[in-house]
Amino acid sequence: MTQAADIKKIGIIGSGQMGGGIAQVCAVGGFDVYLADISEDALDRAKALIAKRLGRQVDKGTLSAEDRDAALARVATGQAYEALGECQLVIEAATEDEDVKRAIFKELVPHLNKDALIATNTSSISITRMAAITDRPERFIGMHFMNPVPVMKLVEIIRGIATSEETFNTVRDLAIALGKTTAMAEDFPAFIVNRILLPMINEAVYTLYEGVGSVESIDTAIKLGANHPMGPLELADFIGLDTCLSIMNVLYDGLADSKYRPCPLLVKYVEAGWLGRKVGRGFYDYSGETPVPTR
Ligand code: NAD
Repeated sequence: MTQAADIKKIGIIGSGQMGGGIAQVCAVGGFDVYLADISEDALDRAKALIAKRLGRQVDKGTLSAEDRDAALARVATGQAYEALGECQLVIEAATEDEDVKRAIFKELVPHLNKDALIATNTSSISITRMAAITDRPERFIGMHFMNPVPVMKLVEIIRGIATSEETFNTVRDLAIALGKTTAMAEDFPAFIVNRILLPMINEAVYTLYEGVGSVESIDTAIKLGANHPMGPLELADFIGLDTCLSIMNVLYDGLADSKYRPCPLLVKYVEAGWLGRKVGRGFYDYSGETPVPTR
């Protein structure tokens, strides 16, 4: 049985906002990393961003140049899955779409060592259902990092119905070794964090849609009125509006309650390709020096 101390090399599939951050934290934590993506551009962007963020830490004096160089040297990237065969743990962090993730697990499994663990960083999709299509449901688990991964302390750990106690212990110990604090959730749609957070964001979009307030007034109201560090629309742009919509759909379908219906305005923004900060436009326009509200 793979224990946290046996983990030397970690595979990460998907090198977007989350995969790149997870790769950074693992490399700084002393693990060899293989970061895979279907997009060579996404891999290049992730590598450049990791180097930039670690460079900032060196400038601030929180990381030595030597440790930065060692961490960067531990990150290998590529499109092929063969290298994942050397990993004791693979963390899937690709697009929040169950069909995409299922196809990844199907392709991944034949390359894996029989003891290797699979974790998914999904924000909402059933761990049990995805585990069931692999050959190792007892070694499959949810490991939900928060965005931005290097900054946020929490890792929510989600046990599928078949996840073994050993897998849970190993992944929890690993998260702690990466400097994170864990919270355990059972496998129901969107788990804990997004079960609570996303309906709030969706309600903020309804508040905008119904004309109750502008983007600026909604975000100011919640920041100063509820003492949140970011307004809900700013946060939605940060998460990615496509990811927000996928999570609302998982809640709506999985819990069969109309209170989770995605706001039509959120759907329209996603249809327009206005996915938030990652594409330069969402509820705010990010093309200038400071974000400008779009409504
Ligand atoms: P993203 O859009 O920034 O990146 C997704 C990456 O997956 C892209 O680089 C894409 O090229 C890649 N990809 C797509 N199909 C692939 C495939 N078949 N094989 C390999 N790579 C593939 O998305 P993100 O925000 O990084 O989210 C990734 C995962 O993390 C999702 O499951 C999401 O729900 C979860 N998550 C997101 C946040 C957030 O705030 N954005 C927070 C926690 C968890």
